[in-house]
Amino acid sequence: MKLGFDIDDTLINLREHAFHLYNRRLGTQVDIARMRELNCIPIHEAFGLIAEEGKRMWGELREEIYFSDCPAYPDAVEALQTLDRQGHEIYYITARAQGHCDKTLEWLTAAGFPVRPGRFFCGMGDAEKVHVIRDLALDYYFDDKPAVIDTLAALAMKVYIRDQPYNRHLDAPRIHSWGELLSLLNISPLE
Ligand SMILES: [Mg+2]
Repeated sequence: MKLGFDIDDTLINLREHAFHLYNRRLGTQVDIARMRELNCIPIHEAFGLIAEEGKRMWGELREEIYFSDCPAYPDAVEALQTLDRQGHEIYYITARAQGHCDKTLEWLTAAGFPVRPGRFFCGMGDAEKVHVIRDLALDYYFDDKPAVIDTLAALAMKVYIRDQPYNRHLDAPRIHSWGELLSLLNISPLE
């Protein structure tokens, strides 16, 4: 089986990680509940920042957001390791900018995700992801972002939304936690 995964806010909890770094940088103690209520991907509104300030903050902190100790979601590493061990093909497709791709691959590997040669795709725009995903002829693809999910409707693969507050308006199959993955795929962890 061939499975593709977005990384940020699909496999790893990047927005919440960024939220904590924003609080530290700004010297604020905004409650995480504020961010969890946002139904958009950018987090600056939780800090009372306007879009331009938010963009600047993200840019200043991006290296740290990406390459410090952002946690994977529970069971994500374990589930993907199990699939890899069973011989399934795991692909990563991330729209992080080209300049961050090499380090992202290193980070992903260090975080314990199984990354095989030739199965890491990075640096395309959100709108270009569909071409990579189609060419890979995946059986399953998982992503959190409405702008990406919206482009995938015509593909002959099973597309799942990684549940987030900002994608609940989408009507498509969704996964809430990576502990559900193997049963969703009808795979025994013991195979
Ligand atoms: Mg994402």
